[in-house]
Amino acid sequence: MFQTILDIIYPVRCPICGEIVIPKGNKICKPCKDKLQYITEPRCKKCSKPIAQEEEEYCSDCERKNFHFTKGYAIWVYDEAMRRSIANFKYHNKREYAKFYIEEMLLAYGDEIKKMAPDVIVPIPLHRSKYRERGYNQAEVLACGLGKRLTIPVLSHLLVRNKKTLPQKQLSDKERLRNLQEAFMFNQTVAGRYRREINKVLLVDDIFTTGSTIEACTNELIVNGIKDINFITLCIGKGY
Ligand SMILES: [Zn+2]
Ligand SMILES: [Zn+2]
Repeated sequence: MFQTILDIIYPVRCPICGEIVIPKGNKICKPCKDKLQYITEPRCKKCSKPIAQEEEEYCSDCERKNFHFTKGYAIWVYDEAMRRSIANFKYHNKREYAKFYIEEMLLAYGDEIKKMAPDVIVPIPLHRSKYRERGYNQAEVLACGLGKRLTIPVLSHLLVRNKKTLPQKQLSDKERLRNLQEAFMFNQTVAGRYRREINKVLLVDDIFTTGSTIEACTNELIVNGIKDINFITLCIGKGY
């Protein structure tokens, strides 16, 4: 009864078009789901970006840049539909879209994450001023949902973002990474309080574009003795 009332007051909205989803019980409308570009083979063996040729193993970015993470997963290509969906999720308080996103992450990669068996899940942190502004960290919402469903502990504050990064657009890859590297800090207090050894981490974020954010966080974890860093994001660019 209570749920029915909730459904009437807050019907499920489609994370793509924002309309009320019919039939009830679905999390997205069928035509919108059909529009999404799910990542399939051929894809990069390291970051999972779609690549043009079956014969290639890695995307041009993974070939060129010496990324230090072990492996990455993403569900969709970062196209216009997903750009809008994620912008609403992040900036316009559409936290409820996480239900759909998490369901899709589990469908696509739940088994692989279980096999990977990370010790902990860690969201990419937000600077606290941004956190105050938005009231939540979208990566943390995703991480907590995954952790709960997979029964893997989530350490939301193992990484801290301690300075606001300069606008990244005009920077070269190297400058971008240096700029970001200084922004993330390993939180010894959180690590100490956790008490168990952390060898394998799954980082969670909404998008992977140039990879500099994931790389900066990976390096910060490696410097602090964690060797095996993996990531999962909702979206990723194309590798060609
Ligand atoms: Zn829709
Ligand atoms: Zn790649």
